[in-house]
Amino acid sequence: MKIAFIGLGNMGGGMAANLAKAGHEVRAFDLSEAALAAAKEKGCEAFTSASEACKGVDAVVSMLPNGGIVKAVYTGDVIGHAPEGAVLIDCSTIDVSTAREVAEAAAAAGYPMVDAPVSGGIAAADAGTLTFMVGGSDEGFKRAEEVLKHMGKAVIHAGDAGNGQAAKICNNMLLAVQMIGTAEAFAMAQKLGLDPQTFYDISSVSSGQCWSMTSYCPVPGVGPTSPSDNDYQGGFATGLMLKDLKLAMEAAETAGMNTRIGAKAKELYEAFDADGNGARDFSAIITEYD
Ligand code: NAD
Repeated sequence: MKIAFIGLGNMGGGMAANLAKAGHEVRAFDLSEAALAAAKEKGCEAFTSASEACKGVDAVVSMLPNGGIVKAVYTGDVIGHAPEGAVLIDCSTIDVSTAREVAEAAAAAGYPMVDAPVSGGIAAADAGTLTFMVGGSDEGFKRAEEVLKHMGKAVIHAGDAGNGQAAKICNNMLLAVQMIGTAEAFAMAQKLGLDPQTFYDISSVSSGQCWSMTSYCPVPGVGPTSPSDNDYQGGFATGLMLKDLKLAMEAAETAGMNTRIGAKAKELYEAFDADGNGARDFSAIITEYD
């Protein structure tokens, strides 16, 4: 397939390389010359604009920072420039409303479009082991799956346009709440005189067990290796978790939903980020209890 790839940053760079590795002709564009040069080294062809990259393609994939940029790129450089009928796949994490609005504009111009945000970080993007949650029509999903399967281990249809983003922000809101709860429980166990390893041995096989505890424990030296064992470097940055929580709160407001615990999680991560912790892994929130 001929595939345009727009946005070759931390995530997009590895994803585009995996499409090229799978034998596709990847026509790449990024505003950053360094990102474009790196993509060229990994087997992509570099273009000087998104509209040029979209010429003659079967599919367009994007991995961009936010909804404003996604809307500007699709309405300005993709729709009307990619051949009619090409499948459009936005993998960025953006707000549900913009995802639906852009998909509608694409459909009106004859393009099936899906939102396909990912679970998994930079390592999973490089390794081709992302999970894609996809919102769009059955036809859009089937065609997007043929592209996404080369970059991930799971491609799941979440329903109509925007539902991929809805799944992503609900999942990450739950993750934030779960991480803060896990951190608080370990901190309190310690205050009450329990050794963290002993608490782990008990809670990891009891009803408090969760992913934040058994796969990503915020206490160094407890559970499998995680960012806490590396001074909270790498992993999923607090700044990115905060971005997702803000999107979740925006969506909650639009839906008239009172997310009592999600709102509290956003407040806590906002304060942690403002204290200069934006680049640390989100499990570092446990240090607030020191
Ligand atoms: P990044 O900043 O490293 O990459 C974004 C890229 O987009 C940059 O190279 C930038 O130059 C390019 N760009 C910006 N505006 C552009 C435009 N108009 N045209 C072309 N290129 C443009 O960000 P990232 O970490 O790769 O994240 C990308 C998306 O993936 C975000 O929506 C993020 O929330 C989501 N995400 C990131 C992670 C992660 O661990 N980094 C995990 C899951 C999801």
